[in-house]
Amino acid sequence: MRRVVIAGNWKMHKTQAESLEFLQSFLPLLENTAEDREVILCAPFTDLSVMSKNLHGTRVRLGSQNVHWEESGAFTGEIAPSMLTEVGVTYAVVGHSERRQYFGETDETVNFRARAAQKAGLKPILCVGESKQQRDAGETEAVITQQLKADLVGIDLSGLVIAYEPIWAIGTGDTCDSKEANRVIGLIRSQLSSADVPIQYGGSVKTANIDEIMAQPEIDGALVGGASLDAEGFARIVNYQ
Ligand code: PGA
Repeated sequence: MRRVVIAGNWKMHKTQAESLEFLQSFLPLLENTAEDREVILCAPFTDLSVMSKNLHGTRVRLGSQNVHWEESGAFTGEIAPSMLTEVGVTYAVVGHSERRQYFGETDETVNFRARAAQKAGLKPILCVGESKQQRDAGETEAVITQQLKADLVGIDLSGLVIAYEPIWAIGTGDTCDSKEANRVIGLIRSQLSSADVPIQYGGSVKTANIDEIMAQPEIDGALVGGASLDAEGFARIVNYQ
């Protein structure tokens, strides 16, 4: 049985005060959430410590939005795996398309980050996905196959979550058709040597489409950006039918 994993990716949103305000509204709304759903909030680095204290004893796990591959050193602006585990972080997003597009991440650095995360006991949420141009050129399968091959070198599949995030669907309101997302996720699964890796869909997931997305047999969860910023809305997503 594969796990259901629903993660919010706050990106560069919410101060500490705002993160605590969110939790105050959000946590009571999880009282009836099915036990077997993993709920994760991937928050800005500055929020993690205070959120961790407030999530103690709850079912919500904390994630970072990136992690470096070295334990310390001259890497201005980066964060080490042990700095995250020390404050109670369990998951780390690696290879988000915004990191790849705007901050020069390559499959090689994504792989370094994912490996270092696992070594430190963090579970990577590895993001893969094609651009609009690549999709229009019929390259979706090839792009994803290449990303998986490079990103998964030396990775222990038992401690991994994969997110399929077509770049053209992120933050655009232009959700990938759920059957098409199901098809691509099936393709990703067929390339893994383990059948148990949870694979999420990400890209304009919202309250209006989560039920249909989660009804697809290959889709094990969602990585939710914009719609995870609102406590009631994200709780509705976590509590999908
Ligand atoms: P979105 O972002 O839900 O705002 O489209 C998803 C993501 O980037 O993880």
